[in-house]
Amino acid sequence: MRTPLLAGNWKLNCLQKEATELASALAAGCTGLAGREVMVAPTYTSIAAVREALAGSGIGLGGQDLYWESDGAYTGEVSAEMLVDAGCSHVIIGHSERRQYFGETDQTVANKTRAAVEAGLVPVVCVGETLEEREGGKTLDVIRRQVEGGLAGLPPAGHETLVVAYEPVWAIGTGKTATTEQAEQVHAEIRALLATVTSAGASAGTRILYGGSVKPGNVDELMACPNVDGALVGGASLKADDFLRIVHFKETAS
Ligand code: PEP
Repeated sequence: MRTPLLAGNWKLNCLQKEATELASALAAGCTGLAGREVMVAPTYTSIAAVREALAGSGIGLGGQDLYWESDGAYTGEVSAEMLVDAGCSHVIIGHSERRQYFGETDQTVANKTRAAVEAGLVPVVCVGETLEEREGGKTLDVIRRQVEGGLAGLPPAGHETLVVAYEPVWAIGTGKTATTEQAEQVHAEIRALLATVTSAGASAGTRILYGGSVKPGNVDELMACPNVDGALVGGASLKADDFLRIVHFKETAS
């Protein structure tokens, strides 16, 4: 009922030539792909080149961020409409690096999520606790605050399209992955929270991705968790072979 989504967050990497080569390799490796969706989020400057390389592949294109106003005096920002105009179908919102380095809050996440939905983009809203918060037993409190705050004012159109990514901050780019038990516990909690934010029916259909050092060697066991509906992948999405192995995760792993 929930089609798995494997999403690559290319972060601040790849000039247009590298981005094109990577996208072309992914397009070739996803020929005939069924039963799962794929999306990549390059830098703004590579979106046009990647769009061309992905043409006809079925792979979605995402922004790594957006601003909630549609136009105006906001130097350096890119709006939801501009992402759509550039060919994007998805947008990542509230990544922990944006929260940590660029002052994103649950309020800005809510503003951005609303703007994304209104423009017809699929919002991939990131939540996750720091190591200090986990060790302090605050994981579920933090997740509740981020889900309820970041999705406050979510327009009804977003109830069906929303994607949430659980990304424990201590697992991003560190090589440390949450255990399947840790991931499943938080994913189940997010789904229960979503039932109050949207509806039980919508929540049952919402894809909740896991992110944090997902690699070819751990994707199968993570994807075997009942409430893990895909992955948001940073480092490993920059290597075509690794990301393609993740995309082709094995359904039957125990
Ligand atoms: C990310 O940045 O969303 C991420 C999960 O990174 P990595 O896979 O490198 O941990």
